[in-house]
Amino acid sequence: MDMIFCPLYSGSSGNALFVQYGSTRLLIDAGKSGKMIDEALDMIGVDPATLDAILITHEHTDHICGAGVMCRKHKLPIYATAATWEAMDDKLGRIPEGCRRTFDTFADFYLGDIGVVPFSIPHDAADPVGYRLWGGNVSISTATDLGHFPRTVRDAVAGSSLVLLESNHDPDMLRMNGHYSYKLKQRILSNHGHLSNDACADALLQLVDNGTQHVILGHLSGENNTPSLARQVSESRMIREGIRLGEDLHLDMAYRDRVGSVYTLEAGA
Ligand SMILES: [Zn+2]
Ligand SMILES: [Zn+2]
Repeated sequence: MDMIFCPLYSGSSGNALFVQYGSTRLLIDAGKSGKMIDEALDMIGVDPATLDAILITHEHTDHICGAGVMCRKHKLPIYATAATWEAMDDKLGRIPEGCRRTFDTFADFYLGDIGVVPFSIPHDAADPVGYRLWGGNVSISTATDLGHFPRTVRDAVAGSSLVLLESNHDPDMLRMNGHYSYKLKQRILSNHGHLSNDACADALLQLVDNGTQHVILGHLSGENNTPSLARQVSESRMIREGIRLGEDLHLDMAYRDRVGSVYTLEAGA
């Protein structure tokens, strides 16, 4: 059986990731309109009515704004920690009976055929988590919305077959941005904000050291980064460290406003 992953949308303007293994189909986050998420699923040949659940990372709008609609339209249970539910409840609208599911950050669980391992991330939200999802002997991890890349996150994702890693901003572009308030800039740059391109390259090196060979850069800022800059910072750092791109490491991008590639990982049963 194969494990399938597609970043439908990834960026500060909205996030929704598709994961499939066996007969189970999940979304991680639903931070675009329900219509846009349905359209993205259609584009990769997935009928939205066949989804089984939505896993939420944290309550920021770019991760939940379509969750209520998707839940009501497709009768999808939403999984989040109790603290995240409390923080997002009034933003989702009515949640049908039975669709409100909670889990503990430090307890693994199964959702159908997929093994779910949540882990804490350093971000300015109530109880933010990343996920490592297992299908057979392969796993896919998300590590976005992080102010820094602590050892706990490194250990949680170590050896994943595929990682979606945040490369949010270029600090100079952010500092010079005339649209952002001082407070917002400080929030993004803080220990509980977002990973800069350089911090991403540091984290990437640790992922490669721990056996990951495929990484997708995502959650880019629209105003304070460009895909080519994010890629260039990570690639040049890897080359300096003697890591062979395309051999030791396959590096891809996830996009803010268009559907990313569909990744198929061969998994043992
Ligand atoms: Zn976000
Ligand atoms: Zn966030």
